[in-house]
Amino acid sequence: MALTVVGSIAFDSVRTPFGERDRMLGGSSVHFALAARFFTKVHIVGPVGDDFEEEHLELLRTRGVDVSDVERVPGGQTFFWRGHYDVDMNVAHTDDTQLGVFADFEPKLSESSQAAEVLFLGNIQPDLQRRVRAQSDGSRLAALDSMNLWIQTTRDSLVAAIGEVDCLLFNDSEIRMLTEEPNLARAARAVMEMGPRIVVAKRGEYGAVLFTPEGFFALPGFVLEDVRDPTGAGDSFAGGFLGYLDMQGTDKPDAAALRRAMAYGTVLASFNVEEFGTERVARLTEDEISDRYEALRGMTHFEGQG
Ligand code: AMP
Repeated sequence: MALTVVGSIAFDSVRTPFGERDRMLGGSSVHFALAARFFTKVHIVGPVGDDFEEEHLELLRTRGVDVSDVERVPGGQTFFWRGHYDVDMNVAHTDDTQLGVFADFEPKLSESSQAAEVLFLGNIQPDLQRRVRAQSDGSRLAALDSMNLWIQTTRDSLVAAIGEVDCLLFNDSEIRMLTEEPNLARAARAVMEMGPRIVVAKRGEYGAVLFTPEGFFALPGFVLEDVRDPTGAGDSFAGGFLGYLDMQGTDKPDAAALRRAMAYGTVLASFNVEEFGTERVARLTEDEISDRYEALRGMTHFEGQG
């Protein structure tokens, strides 16, 4: 039971209506790993620059994340993202993206990363996602996330990457953009025709919808009074979702396991948004996850129909 993730390892400068932070630890694979580690062993793959401090690696290490495939590039700069959110915090506005060390990164997965049963290709350049996919011999369930930037600039590579995975986790607007299909159910069907048999449409505070060939399952977000920074919520969702599926140890999860995975994704994402960056999830406990999972179960009865 293990999970490998590739995606951005980043510094994020973020402004929301509730404050701002400069160059905090972030990136799709960091948010993902900090959520998934509650369920399984996580191996993180990717480059960082000289500016990436030991304390950041230590934060991941002390949470049980294997960072031996994090490569430090001498003279390089860590991936940097600057963004802001206005009153509607479901929409992230990108102000700057600097690939830094990701521009020339050639992934070389260690044996343990290659052997992991579950693979998450987090948001990053799709050709890089494909090179990691090609090395992941052991993976029985591969999933992928991306964003509007890559849909607009590298669509063909992205479609090829999607054809090589079992599961796609996208924001609903990105599924529509990718397929040029305004209806979400039809758009999800169009994604399945590209390859994946499991499609998750993330809908910010409104929750997420799961599509499989058998049907759909929608779960609302966990409603909170305090939301400070949604950055990384999608990755924390993916971490809870895939981490739980890996813990179940099956590459063909049944409908009940997928529902529970959706609930764990929802719970992890809800903690992520309570504070800036990784602050909240980095100090989260298993008991807090269980309590919120039970609260969500009680309020939504999502296990009702089996
Ligand atoms: P999320 O809010 O879950 O969609 O993801 C937010 C994270 O994605 C941030 O921590 C950013 O560092 C990272 N990010 C933003 N833009 C990109 C990009 N073009 N490629 C990879 N990661 C990105």
